[in-house]
Amino acid sequence: MIKLEQINKTYYTGAPLHVLKGIDLEIGRGELVSIMGASGSGKSTLLNILGILDGYNTGNYWLNGVLIKNLSESKAASYRNKLIGFIFQSFNLISFKNAMENVALPLYYQNVGRRARNRTALEYLEKLGLKEWAHHMPNELSGGQKQRVAIARALIAKPQIILADEPTGALDSKTSAEVIEILKQVNADGMTMIIVTHESGIANQTDKIIRLKDGIIEQIEDNSMHDSSVFGFGNIK
Ligand code: ADP
Ligand code: MG
Repeated sequence: MIKLEQINKTYYTGAPLHVLKGIDLEIGRGELVSIMGASGSGKSTLLNILGILDGYNTGNYWLNGVLIKNLSESKAASYRNKLIGFIFQSFNLISFKNAMENVALPLYYQNVGRRARNRTALEYLEKLGLKEWAHHMPNELSGGQKQRVAIARALIAKPQIILADEPTGALDSKTSAEVIEILKQVNADGMTMIIVTHESGIANQTDKIIRLKDGIIEQIEDNSMHDSSVFGFGNIK
């Protein structure tokens, strides 16, 4: 589904910064993958390239067999909207829209009418146990509730891949465990899921752990025999 070949990325915003230094990676449909690495190692840069939010300088990125390279902004947006759902550490909800309207937003960009998109948004909020919160504004929700709204928003357009950049980074450990449980359920239903995390307790619940160091993949750990029922004590081989 995802294939990266010798991806290099340099930022030229100030002094040139070579962030990704030859990334080779394959991720199959339905996989549950985590990306770990120190702050600044290039995790978000890699995720942004996978999500077609940012480009790369050299190498090749194939998504479903399509070479993702030098796309026009409209082509990139079209692939992104169809194929990819995003979840961020800071939730990225729109503060002046209620939970339902936030969830419905991706359907707005698909030109779905207001009534239909709000109805679908309510269904997704219900799936995530938030039906009663549909008309609340983000600042009236707890962190865990906000992230569940963001998950509903990521799911509503039925993407093929979810990219989550430190989705539990702003949550306490109990809420983190609940959010990860939801993401694992979504993956169990067939969604390809890539989670950037600092926490080995989370990474250990994924099938494959990619360790980034200074822009290079230091190790890819096959963790597919993990015992998913035991939080933080996976990797039983
Ligand atoms: P991580 O997510 O692993 O913490 P990032 O991918 O965010 O790392 O960043 C990797 C390096 O690239 C850091 O040194 C960061 O400061 C730098 N960086 C990230 N985004 C940009 C940008 N838009 N312009 C310039 N430098 C950036
Ligand atoms: Mg980051």
